[in-house]
Amino acid sequence: MGMVGFYAGSFNPFTNGHLQIVKKAAKCFDKVIVGIGHNVEKKERIDRNKMKQAIDKTIVEENLKNVEVIIYDGLTIDKARECKADILIRGLRNGTDYEYEENISAINEKMANMDTCYFRAGDLGYLSSSIVMELYNNNKGINRYVPRAVAELLNSLR
Ligand code: ADP
Repeated sequence: MGMVGFYAGSFNPFTNGHLQIVKKAAKCFDKVIVGIGHNVEKKERIDRNKMKQAIDKTIVEENLKNVEVIIYDGLTIDKARECKADILIRGLRNGTDYEYEENISAINEKMANMDTCYFRAGDLGYLSSSIVMELYNNNKGINRYVPRAVAELLNSLR
């Protein structure tokens, strides 16, 4: 059995920044599980089943054969263990992300002895789900910031 990475997030919506992290992780690990969780601090959200479908389509379009998408509730670490993941995956945009992620990673390491692998956002570091939603809610185009299937979903909800 190879290395399994678990990439958790709200993915509300899944952006080109998230996709880039999935692609990088898919090259490094034998299998990558994208887990659509729910963040209690983020209230309004796009239907997770619809987001899963859009991410599934994106995975097919990008020919990412070792990536799987799931929806989960509860602690990320519990789900990651249930999925027999070896490592957690997160993306880093800047120092603020790093400080936030480090707290979570440290707890996961202590609690469950599972490490976290960070991938760099690089030139997509300006992108966030909340910025996409801000544009979307103000009737601006979002097609260039999200994968095609996600844009199709968002545009169908207008
Ligand atoms: P959460 O609510 O769990 O922070 P997000 O969906 O906002 O979920 O983000 C999931 C992960 O993806 C986080 O590790 C976040 O730092 C990372 N991420 C978000 N946007 C980008 C981006 N543009 N480039 C790289 N990583 C990103």
